[in-house]
Amino acid sequence: MKRIAIIGAGITGLAAAHRIGELAASREMPVEVTILERGTRAGGPLKTIRRDGFTIELGADSFLTEKPAAADLARRLGLEKDLIPTQERFRRTYVVHDGKLVEIPEGFSLLAPTHLGPVMKSSLFSPAAKLRIAMEPFVPRRKEEGDESLASFVTRRLGREVLDRVAQALAGGIYTADPNHLSVAATMPRFVEMERRYGSLIRGLQAGEKTRASSSAGTSGARWSLFLSMRNGMGSLADALAARVSASLRFGAEVIEISHRNGGWTVAMADGASIEADAVICAAPAFAAARFIRAADAELADVLGKIAYASAAVVIMAFRESDFPDPPRAFGFVVPISENRKIIAGSFSSLKYEGRAPTGAILARAFAGGVLQKEMMTLADEAIVSASRDEFRQLLGVTAPPSIVEVQRWPDSMPQYDVGHLDRVAAIEAAAARLPRLFLAGAAYRGVGIPDCIRSGEEAARRALDSLAPE
Ligand SMILES: Cc1cc2nc3c(=O)[nH]c(=O)nc-3n(C[C@H](O)[C@H](O)[C@H](O)COP(=O)(O)OP(=O)(O)OC[C@H]3O[C@@H](n4cnc5c(N)ncnc54)[C@H](O)[C@@H]3O)c2cc1C
Repeated sequence: MKRIAIIGAGITGLAAAHRIGELAASREMPVEVTILERGTRAGGPLKTIRRDGFTIELGADSFLTEKPAAADLARRLGLEKDLIPTQERFRRTYVVHDGKLVEIPEGFSLLAPTHLGPVMKSSLFSPAAKLRIAMEPFVPRRKEEGDESLASFVTRRLGREVLDRVAQALAGGIYTADPNHLSVAATMPRFVEMERRYGSLIRGLQAGEKTRASSSAGTSGARWSLFLSMRNGMGSLADALAARVSASLRFGAEVIEISHRNGGWTVAMADGASIEADAVICAAPAFAAARFIRAADAELADVLGKIAYASAAVVIMAFRESDFPDPPRAFGFVVPISENRKIIAGSFSSLKYEGRAPTGAILARAFAGGVLQKEMMTLADEAIVSASRDEFRQLLGVTAPPSIVEVQRWPDSMPQYDVGHLDRVAAIEAAAARLPRLFLAGAAYRGVGIPDCIRSGEEAARRALDSLAPE
């Protein structure tokens, strides 16, 4: 019987344990899996609560369908019937501009527009900026090789206003990052590739649109949903995994050191206990791994420690639709840093997905913190709620008190993919490869989204089992 220890019971660790179960069964290979989790629950930011008829997401609320790992896993868990698409009639996003909500021009894809028409009609950009955007197809390709920041990339291709008024909030907001540091190669490789291949983001986006149109030609029915969620909330995916894995899941088990001896690993915990394992999958954040790996490999610990993390808070507020002078008809809004407000985004969970709130109610979320507004995280919960309510009053005219208020903090939860991230990850992978049967997975490395985390956990599972297979 081979033993595998998984450190961390976020979605990555859970997906790894589940995949080990699947592969070990098909290979008829007996393995014993132990998941060691520092906290008191599994799933990390996949956390849902139910209250008064509301299904409330305290962390993640969606996953991208472009990367199939999450939907595939849900199907294998028998949860296909629980996958729900976004409500197309509310598919629009606003951005705060001069203190007001302005619709992001149709076809605007994170950094760049697909078509110039909606941009020209939008009140979001100055005439000079519109001209600059229209010039994008004529801006020469970048000559230098190597990584670049989001700020540099967007300014170079589309001008400063696109960065300041949309891209920083939309694209930087996903990573709660500083656009001057965020690596475009690590986070938006699709756009780097468009520049390389088409010499233009606008031309690249248009080519993508044509390909999608021709591949869906002849099909009917609902438009393919870019995002999916789970009917009972994202927490239900983590719960299903935790219930299904044939692993022992230990809570309150903080790993403080792993050491390699006699061909195996000893995993030591803060309470003095330790376990022996033939292979270790580390699915904890990079800063945590840096600490417990140091004794085994100081060089690896040093590079792991270079990945910075940001914190954020989610404020959940339930209102009546009638509390809004003009009820929102959108998924949400983002707030550029240049607007000097106290939240970085807001969203309407009950408009994004069906069944999140009782009829006549609107379930909203405000996001605070991130790298650019670190000071918000020093405030007490009441102050974060009060700041969120102020913003909802000023931006949406809501003065009524919310019937439900929840604050969920996510400290050190957002790995920062700073310029050079891919080189750092390559260095981490090279260093980790020197250690026998140690596998790193999770949001710190090659994608923070849920599908990326699942894929990396499943990949680590396969590699761990391969490493234990008899010669
Ligand atoms: C507020 C928020 C909203 C998000 N929304 C979305 C979204 O809508 N869609 C999307 O795709 N992605 C979203 N993300 C990103 C995504 O949810 C995360 O990147 C992903 O869940 C991270 O999973 P993980 O397993 O890699 O890490 P984690 O979930 O952080 O799991 C790591 C686990 O390791 C444990 N641990 C740490 N140190 C130790 C130790 N020494 N010993 C033992 N255990 C340890 C931790 O307690 C934790 O449980 C969101 C993230 C946040 C914070």
